[in-house]
Amino acid sequence: MPKTREMVDWTYEKLCLKTVQALEKNEFTALFCPTAVAACEYIINEAADADTVAIGGSMSLAEMKIADQLKERGKTILVSKGPGITPEQGMAIRRRQLTCDLFLCGSNAVTLSGCLVNIDNTGNRVGPMAFGPRKSIVVIGRNKIVGGSIEMAIKRIKDRAAPPNAKRLNYETPCAATGFCNDCASPDRICRIITILEKKPKRSDLRILVVNQDLGY
Ligand code: SF4
Repeated sequence: MPKTREMVDWTYEKLCLKTVQALEKNEFTALFCPTAVAACEYIINEAADADTVAIGGSMSLAEMKIADQLKERGKTILVSKGPGITPEQGMAIRRRQLTCDLFLCGSNAVTLSGCLVNIDNTGNRVGPMAFGPRKSIVVIGRNKIVGGSIEMAIKRIKDRAAPPNAKRLNYETPCAATGFCNDCASPDRICRIITILEKKPKRSDLRILVVNQDLGY
């Protein structure tokens, strides 16, 4: 590995470990994963006794191809969008996701003080993150760590996550055209719900994997 890459990884490892410590202080079960492969191994292990695994829209998880790996192991995967899924079926799946055995999702941001910050459109990603599934695992790439306030985390999401997401989904929002947030009033606006998990939700089995690799956006 070139020295520069090694040093960058080393610096990020320190940042990830500090984030894990802060999350633990906030009562989350948090783990450091050196790679996305290690995160996949953890998830597959935790999915051993799960029949239904739901996946909240996440480019991080898509990059990890975790759905395929779980399908190969006989799991029923609940995703609300995709070829052949009608809007009615999508809604039924979103409801089933709330009571699945294992819920997997990403997080738009995590602060160095150990808070998870997310912006959602429908709520079927941030809802089960707080309550519902028997177990939830949130995967966070190192690029999502924000060394500042909740406000900075929200800014990160509107600057870096929402515009490419709106573009990917072919939504008619200003950010999908310009790449910049315009605090729009578009019917397609994806920024509708902001959640901040300051401490682990009381009755949830919520695990957080902080991965020393860029994942999603
Ligand atoms: S508020 Fe509107 S323009 Fe801003 S990031 Fe969200 S969807 Fe895009």
